[in-house]
Amino acid sequence: MHAPSPLGRLALSLALAAFSASCALPVAAHPPGHHPSLRTPGTPPGIVLPPTDEDVPAPPAWDGVAFRGGVVSVSHPLAAQAGRDVLARGGNAIDAAAAIQFMLNVVEPQFSGIGGGGFMMIHLAHRHRTFAIDGREKAPAAATPTQFVLTDVPAAQRFTIASTSGLSVGVPGTLAVLDHALRRYGTIRLSEALAPAIEVAEKGFRINRFLAANIANDGGRTGFQPETAAVFRPGGVPLADGALLVQPDLAKTFRLIARHGPKVFYQGEIAQALVAAQQRSRTPVAAEGVGRMTLQDLADYRVVERDPVKVDYRGWTVADMAPPSSGGLTVGQMLEMVERFPMGDAGQGFGFGSPTTLHVMTEAMRLAFADRAVWMGDEDFVPVPKTGLLNPEYVATRSAMISLTSRMATPAAGNPLPYDTAATGNRNVRLAPEKEDTEQRPSHTTHYSVVDKWGNVVSFTTTIEATWGTGITVPGYGFLLNNELTDFNFDPAFNPATGNPGANDVAPGKRPRSSMAPAIVFKGREPVLAYGSPGGATIINSVFNVTLNLIDHGMSIQQAINAPRLSVTSATGTVSCEGVEPFMQPKFSVATQDALRSLGHLVPGAAGANGCTATIGSVQGVVIDLRTGRQYGGADLRREGTVLGLKRVKAQGPKDRDKRDERDDETDD
Ligand code: GLU
Repeated sequence: MHAPSPLGRLALSLALAAFSASCALPVAAHPPGHHPSLRTPGTPPGIVLPPTDEDVPAPPAWDGVAFRGGVVSVSHPLAAQAGRDVLARGGNAIDAAAAIQFMLNVVEPQFSGIGGGGFMMIHLAHRHRTFAIDGREKAPAAATPTQFVLTDVPAAQRFTIASTSGLSVGVPGTLAVLDHALRRYGTIRLSEALAPAIEVAEKGFRINRFLAANIANDGGRTGFQPETAAVFRPGGVPLADGALLVQPDLAKTFRLIARHGPKVFYQGEIAQALVAAQQRSRTPVAAEGVGRMTLQDLADYRVVERDPVKVDYRGWTVADMAPPSSGGLTVGQMLEMVERFPMGDAGQGFGFGSPTTLHVMTEAMRLAFADRAVWMGDEDFVPVPKTGLLNPEYVATRSAMISLTSRMATPAAGNPLPYDTAATGNRNVRLAPEKEDTEQRPSHTTHYSVVDKWGNVVSFTTTIEATWGTGITVPGYGFLLNNELTDFNFDPAFNPATGNPGANDVAPGKRPRSSMAPAIVFKGREPVLAYGSPGGATIINSVFNVTLNLIDHGMSIQQAINAPRLSVTSATGTVSCEGVEPFMQPKFSVATQDALRSLGHLVPGAAGANGCTATIGSVQGVVIDLRTGRQYGGADLRREGTVLGLKRVKAQGPKDRDKRDERDDETDD
């Protein structure tokens, strides 16, 4: 099998540009159950994943249905329904995104909500404008670089204790994002976006197995605070899969916000309760662990609109989150580093899941994470050499360190400053290095994607940081508080010799460096894909894996999401890889793992053993086929991923499933 040659790729680009510019082109038919991939028709895909209903049991999200009236892809069916209903009433993607977020606060309270923050990447079709609303939590004005040092606590317990105390609560941004997005770019009121969530919080819903598992096992942390336990473990008994969860306090909070607007949260009675709640601390650190947020910090919170970072990868433009997230820069570096290899060309050993492909991916991850550890942080506080980090010549020097025959020794960060076009001050100065982030946090956070009938796109990664955040529920108000400040350096990387701060040291008003990477991919000016993932630092790698699956391996969005993923989140490079879920086909074989081990990679387990047992991320994506205008979704079975759409394209063959949709939705084809 052969990857398209550069000329072939150019031809593909031109052809697709021509398609997108023309309305009069014939509609291409896709076989039922098959999503269009990004390759040209006839281009051999780099992997044979089960393409039809006959090959795999059809899970709900394996749904090759095409739509024209908008698509939502969300990790929970009730939240997907809330978004779809907004679109059905004539709302746009921004409106749907707001309704989805409020519903997620109800049905996936452990992952995101108004006590947290996030990055909402938006593409406005009529303005051809792509930007992110940065709702990242901020350190309070009283924060200090040494606030997490906590000398009295054994090192092994420090993270757990800090992350479950008020000290780690950042000033939340999610509600401010939704309010800003609706006022500037939406068509419905905040109260309308809240209404479905209020109803479900009040009447209750049956919890799914993912929430039940998170309630039963809070990840070995020191337990829920009492108000959280009262909701999720009433009488000390964890709610089980299928149990009814009613959240009157959360419903009350949402009603207050619907009536009074976000002011009641940032300046009113909810602000007062929130500030009091983050004064909780775990016993071993007592006063040292008390949160430092004041009413003034809440009143001062503002979202920021930011331009995405963009990289060109094989003719596609990947727009992703800029600092304070490391997501876009790190994904971008990885893509640029692997572009010189014929990824996807099985004939040359670069098919999906081959040892060579995985080796190159791993090395790119190690190099990019080495740079991330030194250079990336909140650029409102530290200079981040964004153009240098993505400069093709600079990245080429990094990529040149990748050998096909052996694993490199642990790479240091590079020096992108000579390649940086921005005025970053003294170019000889380097920021102090910090400890690498080797922590795997697979199950936090949520990503969802929306496209509406006008072609507006939202790609939103939203979080309260760890699963359950701090575990502190604001008493009487029913929402959990984030522990996002644990994303800062726990020990400051400040360099006393030079006076340089660590890029990610705590500072008053600063946003902790994130890994969130809500992506929108373009062909020319037209958006074709939106996706992202939760998972702490592994987010970056989930987005990288899925991007290669789509662009190089010729997979459809659902195949790209289903395929097993591999992740390395530090220069030292311990490999984490998937392969336990039955829907991940094919898995990384033991022979492949052994081939990586023999190159020197740190695949868990001994030779001959299956070390690929991780679960990494949860990707929800939407696709717009520029040739036909059809819209598709792919959702992740690692959670209860759900795709819903409007104006379903009429069934074209006997195999088409789910006739129910035809009664509900218009058909036009
Ligand atoms: N605190 C994480 C980040 O911003 C949230 C994502 C996650 O843990 O999944 O990178």
